[in-house]
Amino acid sequence: MTGKVETLEFQSEARQLLQLMIHSIYSNKDTFLRELVSNASDALDKVRLEAFRDKELAVDTDDLHISLEIDRENRALTVRDNGIGMSRDDVVSLIGTIAKSGTAEFLRKLKESQDAAGAQDLIGQFGVGFYASFMVADKVTLVTRRAGETGGTRWESAGAGTYTIEDVAEAPQGTAVTLHLKAEDAEEHLYDYASRAKVVEIVRRYSDFITWPIRVEPEGGGEPETVNSRKALWARPQSEVSEDEYTEFYKHVSHDWTAPLETIRLAAEGTFEYQALLFIPERAPFDLYMRDRKRGVQLYVKRVFIMDDCEELMPEYLRFVKGVVDAQDLSLNVSREILQRDRQIELMRRRLVKKVLSTVKSMRADRPEKYETFWSEFGRAVKEGLLDDTDNRDAILDITALSSTHDAEKSTTLGEYVSRMKDGQDAIYYMTGETRSALENSPHLEAFRAKGYEVLLLTDPIDEMWVGSIPEFDGRKLQSVAKGQVDLDSEEDKAEARLREEEFAPLLGWLGEQLGEDVKEVRLSSRLTTSPACVVGDTFDITPNLEKMYRAMGQEVPKIKRVLELNPTHPLVTALRAAHAEQQEHADLADSAELIYGMAILAEGGDLTDPTKFVKLLAGRLEKAL
Ligand code: ADP
Ligand code: MG
Repeated sequence: MTGKVETLEFQSEARQLLQLMIHSIYSNKDTFLRELVSNASDALDKVRLEAFRDKELAVDTDDLHISLEIDRENRALTVRDNGIGMSRDDVVSLIGTIAKSGTAEFLRKLKESQDAAGAQDLIGQFGVGFYASFMVADKVTLVTRRAGETGGTRWESAGAGTYTIEDVAEAPQGTAVTLHLKAEDAEEHLYDYASRAKVVEIVRRYSDFITWPIRVEPEGGGEPETVNSRKALWARPQSEVSEDEYTEFYKHVSHDWTAPLETIRLAAEGTFEYQALLFIPERAPFDLYMRDRKRGVQLYVKRVFIMDDCEELMPEYLRFVKGVVDAQDLSLNVSREILQRDRQIELMRRRLVKKVLSTVKSMRADRPEKYETFWSEFGRAVKEGLLDDTDNRDAILDITALSSTHDAEKSTTLGEYVSRMKDGQDAIYYMTGETRSALENSPHLEAFRAKGYEVLLLTDPIDEMWVGSIPEFDGRKLQSVAKGQVDLDSEEDKAEARLREEEFAPLLGWLGEQLGEDVKEVRLSSRLTTSPACVVGDTFDITPNLEKMYRAMGQEVPKIKRVLELNPTHPLVTALRAAHAEQQEHADLADSAELIYGMAILAEGGDLTDPTKFVKLLAGRLEKAL
């Protein structure tokens, strides 16, 4: 079959990305080399591992390395590795398409972002990998042979729409990517990627830590020399590693294009020795909340890469943490099954989690702006931990930013809330709902406001879930202002309230019957000061917001009846009582009851069951009044 050249089309998303590369929206083109070296390094990691696992595999792993070959005359640069290589099918699916989920969505956003800075920012989150070649090359040729296979594959493209692919009989194990460099870059004397000095400079700047040798032929020919120091960053003393080095390493492991927000180092000595170098990205990846997203920690054993995406090392809610953990005392043969059962791994994971959480905590204390960035990017994911990781719940709560009535601009933690609690306040009050403004205007808050009690305003859908699962914090109950009875009254107030109860009893009883379809009880309220009425849930009822969420997810939820509370000092309510006592016309009173109930629902931002009827009643009343 050798020699038959096929022309294939790039998948449409791939085509769009290539267009971006050709019209290079990056300011720094040097990074193409980092991407190619990074791929070569991954390929070498893989072949070593595969050869170790499969002794039958016909591969040569004696001298695994990367070489950079410069052809000055033809202005070509080749990045060659003798790693795992690709089969023909691999080339078509890995190079011809972009399999990342959410790519189409990402590209749509990119198109919408008008300015160049915005576009750069976005694409930084995506990582374009191999396609970065087209920033500097007008044609790219790739020759590859998958380890263990006999024939190879030759791929070539100018980046515009199509590529050619053919089988070749002879090809060395691994992959060689040859860039036919754009002429204009050299002419402008901006970039000369066919110069040895430039290539070596880029390798040292971006890829020095790559553990495989990167070799370049000396000027004037001769034995190729290794130009990178090959030192694993996590094994070097912290004081010796510069911030730039960490950044470049981060880009290599994370496939991110922007610098990390935070770098975390950790080492354990003794019976189970390991080093960890972890990073918190500056941006949430676009697939953070998608189903098939990956976790970001790689496992190494004694400097040897073992696996990507090691879920045993980082819990789901910290899936955005990237980096490397190098364990000295595991076998190179270690498998996922073993990891899942290993007690040492469990201990290591606990320690890593604690370290990440404490790092964020000190960020909140010392570098609030950084923390704000962190929280706005990853806060929703972190909150999942309040449900999943009960062992660390307090540590997670320490870094969980909540909004509250205390300060509209600044967030608070539960701990900070408690430190502001008033004398006599014995619960932590919160309210859940869809938006801050809806909550702020809700009648449920009135008496809390009048008392000067702070209320947490929780508007994230996940807040509904965790807040209900935490019975106590620092010895104090968490209580919804929209649920259960609230007891904010003093002793005198209580005596007065008992008298009122008697006075209102007939009205309440009658209303309970009238509105029996919608509410399970009607009672007097101590949470209202200016509104006539509000609806509240029982302590263990799910909230209307949660009910809505379940329905939206297609779950059946029984209709939950709530309690109507009346403000006995409100003129509407006192008038209603008087009218009822005088046995006024029954139909009129019934309409008033409906109206008051409807107003209470609207005031909390809820939906009326029968809005048309409500409007009709209201119009009738207005007509009479005008
Ligand atoms: P990423 O590295 O983020 O996966 P790339 O665009 O850089 O994205 O590469 C796409 C895929 O192509 C890689 O995941 C790998 O499977 C394959 N690939 C690229 N370069 C090589 C190489 N030198 N050797 C083997 N496979 C490679
Ligand atoms: Mg890559």
